[in-house]
Amino acid sequence: MNELISLSFCFLFFNVYLISSVGPNPEWASYNIGIFICTRCSGVHRSMGVHISKVKHLKLDRWEDSQVERMKEVGNIKAKMKYEERVPPCYRRPKEGDPQVLIEQWIRAKYEREEFCHPARQVYTSGYMQGFLMKRGKEDSKYQARKFVLSETDDTLKYFVRENKEPKAILRISELNVVFAPDKIGYPNSLQLTFLKDGSTRHIYVYHDEGEVITNWYMAVRCAKLHRLQVAYPSASESELVHHLTEDFAKEGWLWKTGPRLSDGFRKRWFTLDNRKLMYHDEPLDANPKGEIFVGHALDGYSVRIGVVAGVKDQGFSFSLTTPERTYNLSAQSEHERDHWIEVLERVIERPVTPQDTAICGRLMRRRANTNSISIFSPR
Ligand SMILES: [Zn+2]
Repeated sequence: MNELISLSFCFLFFNVYLISSVGPNPEWASYNIGIFICTRCSGVHRSMGVHISKVKHLKLDRWEDSQVERMKEVGNIKAKMKYEERVPPCYRRPKEGDPQVLIEQWIRAKYEREEFCHPARQVYTSGYMQGFLMKRGKEDSKYQARKFVLSETDDTLKYFVRENKEPKAILRISELNVVFAPDKIGYPNSLQLTFLKDGSTRHIYVYHDEGEVITNWYMAVRCAKLHRLQVAYPSASESELVHHLTEDFAKEGWLWKTGPRLSDGFRKRWFTLDNRKLMYHDEPLDANPKGEIFVGHALDGYSVRIGVVAGVKDQGFSFSLTTPERTYNLSAQSEHERDHWIEVLERVIERPVTPQDTAICGRLMRRRANTNSISIFSPR
């Protein structure tokens, strides 16, 4: 029907500027909820079933007057006020380009479980969580069900191999970073837990079949972190503290790196930039990095540039990272990759060093001073 189509068109143009928190060009709508949505979100809305969300294309589907009325009546702003009324500050609201599980669970939390209308349903804010996650073995790379227990009061996340025995590991929540790692791990609902153990970094990889469960664990870590920070820094604002809960890796990928001697050849390593820590590994899912490089501020002698030091053979897309101790000669697979690494490292080098950064640096340095055989700053 032409009238209907033109009506929805015109109505689209009127409303498009009101749309927040959806992609730039919403082509779809949920006409019972009364919101415009992008293509990616429309798939999630469909998967919830028509009892939750009824999806139509703005141009290709036929619109009834009453449906258009409903859209006019509600719209994204009003719906947001209703469905996002009580989003806890520790909850990570997804942005475009975030992992699918985070986007999907945000939508389900809003419309299917109505978690943000009913705070009692926000199980991740209570400061305690326990349950089973599939954890990758440190040596054999097999995934096994392990019981995890999170306690905000104790600042710990523990996991158990046998339920009634001592925990296999106790992680400090305050020293823990959690990131979604679906591509690397190969499961859509998976997390990488990264923490300090005896002065160096340890990685744990977990997944769960249900997206809701993995997201709840992720948010539980964030919420526990926020509550502990609020106690430690009572004068800091909440909006400032939420920036320190979890941090996605600024970049990961393969690079080639030389040893400390000019004659050393380039070796392939998996690099991960976690805040100010540049780690390199033999394989992406290794439990421990082979080495960790603290990336400090330019004024303290840190820099990055295209090319390698004199005497080292340039591999093609080489660049070098200079720290007060040493210059690392690195090489990327392409010009684009090299430029991107330089860009993200420059951003870190220009950023002021926080007291937390200094604490991490101190722990890494102390370990270097204490160990003769395996130095984390030395190449292996
Ligand atoms: Zn969307």
